[in-house]
Amino acid sequence: MAEYTPKERLSRALTGQPVDRMPAVSVTQTGTVEQMEACGSFWPEANNDAEKMAALAEAGYTVVGFEAVRVPFDITAEAEFFGCQIKAGTKEQQPSVVGHVVKTVEDIEKLKGYDLDHGRIGVVCEAIKILTDKYGDELPIMGSMIGPFSLAQHINGDDWFMAIFTDEAFGLTLMEFTTEFNVAYAKKMVENGADTMVIIDPTASAQLIGAEFYDKFVVPYHRKIVDAMHKLNVPVVLHVCGDTTQGLMLMESSGVDAISVDQNVDIATAVGKVDKAVIVGNLDPVNVLWNKDPDTIREQSQKVLDAGVGLLAPGCGIVSKTPTANLQAMVEMAKNHKY
Ligand SMILES: [Zn+2]
Repeated sequence: MAEYTPKERLSRALTGQPVDRMPAVSVTQTGTVEQMEACGSFWPEANNDAEKMAALAEAGYTVVGFEAVRVPFDITAEAEFFGCQIKAGTKEQQPSVVGHVVKTVEDIEKLKGYDLDHGRIGVVCEAIKILTDKYGDELPIMGSMIGPFSLAQHINGDDWFMAIFTDEAFGLTLMEFTTEFNVAYAKKMVENGADTMVIIDPTASAQLIGAEFYDKFVVPYHRKIVDAMHKLNVPVVLHVCGDTTQGLMLMESSGVDAISVDQNVDIATAVGKVDKAVIVGNLDPVNVLWNKDPDTIREQSQKVLDAGVGLLAPGCGIVSKTPTANLQAMVEMAKNHKY
């Protein structure tokens, strides 16, 4: 079979076309301290500066050997864009959302009319442009964003879960708003060169809110993003945290091309639950990738490969202190795997 560029290989793998071997990628965040030290671009600056962000994303390829470049490294840029208070990150820790800006439908109205060039949303798009100019012919350029459900939670705060159960009109209005933003932002990433879209929607889980609410509050909104991306021939990967086993069919009904599952999910069961979505995962980022050695990574990778995973990858964001050698062991296992 023909040799593909990493870009062609991933695109084919995500859209169900035959490939010569498994692509070696991480659909979740890739930044680590060892890569920062190797490329001289560190968190938290690499979260706020396009050149530094691109440099650290590039290290995923040049230092670790991932066959893609991916930005950003956290999921707070979107909430920050809407004015939520952010606790700054450190060299080892990603920033987090600590203040919220929406309590009512009127508050949502006030957020409309935004300009996507502004803030870290603009920085991410600029980093994508830098990476595309350098690697766009060869490597997949992954754009990642928080999904609309978790963004609604960031914007609304801890009341969000209660809101969807008790105030449907408000809940759906906020989902419409966040989704419209997600679609516009994703399109802008694609304009700048992103060819693969990753939606990280950690708390959009049927396990947390039940199938009925998932079907109403999540699926139609994910579908809007997927439809917009498919019009641009961009495959979409969805990552949700926790045990998503029971929700996989609903997740797939949004039309996503691939579903990234975490270490709580049994891969063979997951593969059996979906129709054609590519199952991505699911080495434990803490207990395996960070805290074990390359031999254990190879063993664990083999189990996941034997279970029929579509793409061998971390089960969630890579922990910043993860040794490069461990990530390289996973990369090597993926590269050596023929379907
Ligand atoms: Zn996760």
